[in-house]
Amino acid sequence: MRSLLEGAYKSDHALEVIFSSLRWFFLVLSIVVFFVQYSANPIPLKLVLFISLVVFGVIYMGVSDYYLYKSPEGSKVYSLMTKGGPLFDFIAFSALVPLTGGTESPLFPLAYLIILHVTVYWRFTGGIIAAFLFILAYSITFFMQVSEVSLDSLIIYFSQFFFLLLVGGLGGIIVSRERKHHSEKNLLVEAASRDYLTNLLNHRSFQENLRNDLEKGVDFHLALTDIDKFKLINDQFGHVMGDKVLREIGSIIASIIPGRQGKAFRYGGEEFAIILYDIDQEAVDKLLVSIKQAVSSHIFTCEGNAFSVTMSFGSCRHSGESPGQLVKKADKLLYEAKDKGRNQIVYASVG
Ligand code: GH3
Ligand code: MG
Ligand code: MG
Repeated sequence: MRSLLEGAYKSDHALEVIFSSLRWFFLVLSIVVFFVQYSANPIPLKLVLFISLVVFGVIYMGVSDYYLYKSPEGSKVYSLMTKGGPLFDFIAFSALVPLTGGTESPLFPLAYLIILHVTVYWRFTGGIIAAFLFILAYSITFFMQVSEVSLDSLIIYFSQFFFLLLVGGLGGIIVSRERKHHSEKNLLVEAASRDYLTNLLNHRSFQENLRNDLEKGVDFHLALTDIDKFKLINDQFGHVMGDKVLREIGSIIASIIPGRQGKAFRYGGEEFAIILYDIDQEAVDKLLVSIKQAVSSHIFTCEGNAFSVTMSFGSCRHSGESPGQLVKKADKLLYEAKDKGRNQIVYASVG
């Protein structure tokens, strides 16, 4: 239960699972309410209508649950079934309430739940529109039901009117506030994991990734790469130009690393780290060679001067080392590449 509630806080899917379970619960409750009332006052037409409604509900809810669990989140059909849910609920509600006591139906508070569900997707405006639709349904039922409009009945009518509007408006505001807070938090988390200069993942993310991957026993390759003679760039063209070079190299590396298969980090200074998952030695080599060539063929310009830079790489496959040992191993290979004359890739010897 606790994990379900925590999930609902974090994802719309978990929230939809709760709404879907509630639908089944209220279907059973509706059957109980209907038959208790029916046994006291049996009207065959009502029975036929109610059974049709239950059959329609079971089919709809079955289909909706199928897509909720089977279709990928974010797909069109998933979105149609989840966002369409409140519309179905509204139709079912409009039929159910007159069959179970009209404005005095014990199922009337379902309106509040459905309005809250609408606010999840359509916030304040959606909440208000949904509230007015329920007010319309309520008004029709109310004025068809009362034989004579008295002050008492008007007070009941307007308080219901007001509560429906309040749930829609306040629900919408609360959801909007929560979503804003959530997206601001995500922005902060994102900012804390990115390097300000290159926008690559930063050193802290690198360490966290290594630790997580090692804990989970994920198979991956690590490459450390360092710009050759970068100090000369700073000395010759200044640190602002040096920063520009770092930024451009960062985007070259990021553009070559396949999103699903790898991650690029700014390790620190003019050094970068690359983690590649589920990939064989040949593919690692292909990717690192593309980065090496893309960097060396890139022309940087500074006040009429054109220049290029090269990079050296050290790369190895993870084979049971601790994060520190693994980085040390890749670092050693990187410095071997430097010793051998730079602008090259050195791999750990296999075996
Ligand atoms: P090597 O080929 O041996 O790597 O030579 P190198 O000159 O690249 O190596 P060294 O470690 O001597 O110099 C690295 C330079 O990178 C020194 C430092 O000023 C510069 N650097 C580190 N971080 C930044 C940065 O954020 N911006 C700029 N502009 N320079 C940086
Ligand atoms: Mg360097
Ligand atoms: Mg360095």
